Amino acid sequence: MNLILLGPPGAGKGTQAGKIISKYKIPQISTGDILRAAVREGTELGKEAKSYMNAGKLVPDSVVIGIIRDRLKHSDCANGYLLDGFPRTIAQAEELDKILLAMGNKINAVVSVEVPDQEIVNRVSGRRMCKDCGAVYHVTFTPPKTANICDKCGGELYQRDDDKEATIKARLQIYKEQTEPLKKYYNSKNLLKEVEGTGDINKIFNKIESILDNI
Ligand code: ADP
Ligand code: ADP
Ligand code: ZN
Repeated sequence: MNLILLGPPGAGKGTQAGKIISKYKIPQISTGDILRAAVREGTELGKEAKSYMNAGKLVPDSVVIGIIRDRLKHSDCANGYLLDGFPRTIAQAEELDKILLAMGNKINAVVSVEVPDQEIVNRVSGRRMCKDCGAVYHVTFTPPKTANICDKCGGELYQRDDDKEATIKARLQIYKEQTEPLKKYYNSKNLLKEVEGTGDINKIFNKIESILDNI
């Protein structure tokens, strides 16, 4: 099963991705996670991406397309994959189509997680991540058992540089201008599945499961 998870920053893509990959046994390919790891490690890619990310802007298409092209060649993608946070522009979607065509592969469904703007701001501003394992928490909605400590690995939690209020607004604006048009793009290919992303995390996952079990 080859899937795309679409949705504004803070929609719960990463949260739902964790559940999807564990049930369907496919790898999660998150361009955001790959870019953050590169920034942390100080690689050339990281140096190039950092200023865009901290300003809440998109990293250039050519950079993320290169990442995806390489990643899809790995053997763990042979039985499917979940793209989380990619594509984010029409140009990226068109390039993905070309890559998949050349591989004899195609997308089976695009799940778009719908969350209203105010909820996005609340979620992103309270998001905390584990420095060591990347697990995601929220200070009030899904807090860790001990403040600032990861339940899973004991690592320290931190707030992403781009999760500050001013940057969130910029990211939301960019989502509306550049990423939301992808819904029309995939709808015209009959791949778009919209899911209401507010409320209980497990109930949202149940809705996604019922969609995926029917494709
Ligand atoms: P969120 O989970 O909040 O939607 P991500 O972790 O997916 O954010 O992405 C964080 C940042 O990484 C983005 O704001 C952008 O700068 C960069 N990024 C991630 N994926 C892409 C992409 N497909 N195209 C361009 N930039 C990207
Ligand atoms: P994305 O990957 O789309 O940016 P995340 O999965 O990182 O989104 O979720 C953003 C924030 O909202 C995190 O702090 C997460 O714990 C929280 N969150 C995710 N889903 C829900 C939900 N259904 N209700 C409340 N908070 C949620
Ligand atoms: Zn952890």
